[in-house]
Amino acid sequence: MDEALATLQRVFGYSRFRGPQAEIVAHVIAGGDALVLMPTGGGKSICYQLPALVRPGCGVVVSPLIALMQDQVSAMAELGVRAAFLNSTLDAAEASAIESRLLRGELDLLYVAPERLTTGRCLDLLARANIALFAIDEAHCVSQWGHDFRPEYIQLSILHERYPGIPRIALTATADAITRAEIRARLELEEAPVFVSSFDRPNIRYAIETKRSDPTRQLLSFLARHSGQAGIVYCLSRRRVDEVAALLQEQGINALAYHAGLAADRRAEHQRRFLLEEGVVMVATIAFGMGIDKPDVRFVAHIDMPRSVEAYYQETGRAGRDGAAAEAWMIYGLGDIVQQRRFIDSSEGSDSHRRTSLQKLDALVSLCESTGCRRVQLLGYFSEAAGPCGNCDNCLSPPQTEDVTELAKLALSAVYRTGQRFGAQHIVDVLLGKDGERMSSFGHDQLGVFGKGRGTDATTWRALIRTLLGLGLLRTDQAAFGGISLDASAREVLSAGRKVVMRKAEPADRQRARRKAAVAGEPAAVEGIDASLRQKLKVWRLGVAREHSVPPYVVFHDSTLDQIAARRPQSLGELSTISGVGQAKLDRYGAALLELLRES
Ligand code: ADP
Ligand code: ZN
Repeated sequence: MDEALATLQRVFGYSRFRGPQAEIVAHVIAGGDALVLMPTGGGKSICYQLPALVRPGCGVVVSPLIALMQDQVSAMAELGVRAAFLNSTLDAAEASAIESRLLRGELDLLYVAPERLTTGRCLDLLARANIALFAIDEAHCVSQWGHDFRPEYIQLSILHERYPGIPRIALTATADAITRAEIRARLELEEAPVFVSSFDRPNIRYAIETKRSDPTRQLLSFLARHSGQAGIVYCLSRRRVDEVAALLQEQGINALAYHAGLAADRRAEHQRRFLLEEGVVMVATIAFGMGIDKPDVRFVAHIDMPRSVEAYYQETGRAGRDGAAAEAWMIYGLGDIVQQRRFIDSSEGSDSHRRTSLQKLDALVSLCESTGCRRVQLLGYFSEAAGPCGNCDNCLSPPQTEDVTELAKLALSAVYRTGQRFGAQHIVDVLLGKDGERMSSFGHDQLGVFGKGRGTDATTWRALIRTLLGLGLLRTDQAAFGGISLDASAREVLSAGRKVVMRKAEPADRQRARRKAAVAGEPAAVEGIDASLRQKLKVWRLGVAREHSVPPYVVFHDSTLDQIAARRPQSLGELSTISGVGQAKLDRYGAALLELLRES
C-alpha cells in the first residue's frame, strides 16, 4: 500500500485516496476481482489505473466508447503514463506498432474496444503479453435493461475463462439492484466482493420546478445564473434540441446541439468544442453524455422529464465531477408525464417490462412532486439512508403544503364516473363544468361531479392530478391513449380516511424569491484568490491545452489553479504539494508556472 500511495502522489499529485479507493486498490493489487459501484465523479478511474501501475504488466481497459479513447490516452500521457488504445480507428500498421509495444512491456495501460477484445486475434495477443489486470468500464452495458446495452459486453465472460489468474475489476455508476445482479452473473463476478460507495453527490444542488406557460423563458433565467459556465441542457426530442440550441444562440449564448440525427462529423465537432473550449452549453438528447469525463460541467438542466430516477441521476451526475459547486435543475409538467407514459405504452417488449417502466416513471414523478428533501428521496431510491441535505430547493426554501384530500376525492370520482378512460384534460373539463358537444356526447354534463370543481382553477387541478399520479393513486392504462384510471389504493382516500397533501401552488414572484434564496446559499469560492492571477493562469492553461490538443482540464483542474492562485508557491517543492500536481506535470509545467507567479 505504501507503493500505491507513493504512486498516487507521484503520478496523479493526490495526497490521499478518496472514500473506498484505498480498499479497492489494495484488493486489486493483491490479485482480487472486484465490482465497483461508484457515482459519476466518485473517482473510479484511479481504482484500476493505480493497480495497473503498481502491478507488473499492462492494465487492459475495456471501454465502450471509441470516440473517448483518444482523450483518455492523452490525459494519461499528460500524467506521464504510457498508454495506448486499440480500436477500429487505427490502420493495420498503427495497430501492430501498439501490439509490439504491449509485447515488449512498454505499456502501462491499453484501452480496447469490446468488439475487438473478443476477437481470436486479440485474445491470442493478450495470452502472449504480461497483463496486470482487466478493467471493465461502464459495466452496466452488459445489462439488457439499460439503454446502454452492448451485446459485445456479454462475451466478456471469456476473460475469466481464458485468463483465470488475472484480476478483473468491473466499474459502473448505475446502482440499481437488477443491473447489479446482471453484471455479476454475466461477467462471472459472483465471487468478487462488491464495493459500494455512497451515491451522494453533495456538491450538486437539486432543484425541480413546474413548467410555466413559457418554459424557454424559465430556461433563460436559469442560464442567466450560470453565464459563462459549461453545462448540458437535456431535451427529449431532436427537434426540440435544434429549436432550443437556436434560441440560445440568438440570445448570445455559446450553445451547440447534439443528437443522433446530426451527421457524425458534426456531432464529433460539437463534442470536441464542448471539451476543448470553456463555457459551452450543450443542448442535447440523451445520445450525449455517457463517458463525457469533463469535470467542470457546472450545471445539467432538464427541460423535459427523463423516464426514470436512474436516468435522472445518471444525467445530473455529469455535473460537478470536480467536486466544486454544481446545479441540477429540472422543469416538468403534466404533458411530460403523459408523453412518457405514451412512450411506455407504445414500446415493444413484455407486459412486465412495461409495468417496470411505469413504476420507474411513477417514482420520478413522486420525486418531482415531493415536498421533502430531494436528496433524501433520491438516495432512498438507491436504498441509501440520509438526512435533509440543506443543498436542494426544498431544503433551502421549504415549499408550503396544503391538505387537498377533499379536492382529491372529487378528482378521483370524476375519473371513476367518466369510465376511467379519459385523459387529464377531459377530467379537468368535467370538474370545471366546461360545456360543449364533447361533454354532452358522452353524457358527462349529466354527472354529479360535473362542475363541482369550479372553485379551483385549472392549473391547480392539473397539479393535483400530477400529484395523484405521483402517489400512484391514479394510473394510466396501457391500452388507452393517456387515459387515466384509479389504482386500487384510491379507495384509501375515497373511503378509508387517507389524507392527500400537495405542494401549494406558488405565484411566479414567490418562485423567484425561492430561487433567490437558493442562490444566496451558494457555497463560497476558495478564499483569498486574486482574480487577475486566476485569469492569467487560465489563459496560460488554455495556451498549453491548445498546444497539446487536449482539453484545458487535462492540463490542470480549476481547483488546482485556484489553489495555485491562493497559495502562490515559490518553489517546485511547494508547488508539488498542491493537489493535482504530480511529477510529470511538475517537470513539464513547474518552471513556467513559477515564472508566471513571479511576474505577477
Ligand atoms: P468517475 O470515473 O468515477 O466518474 P473519475 O475517475 O473521472 O470519476 O474521477 C473524478 C474526478 O476526481 C477526477 O477529476 C479525478 O482526477 C478526481 N479524483 C479521483 N480520485 C481522487 C483523489 N484520490 N484525490 C483527488 N482527486 C481525485
Ligand atoms: Zn435537501
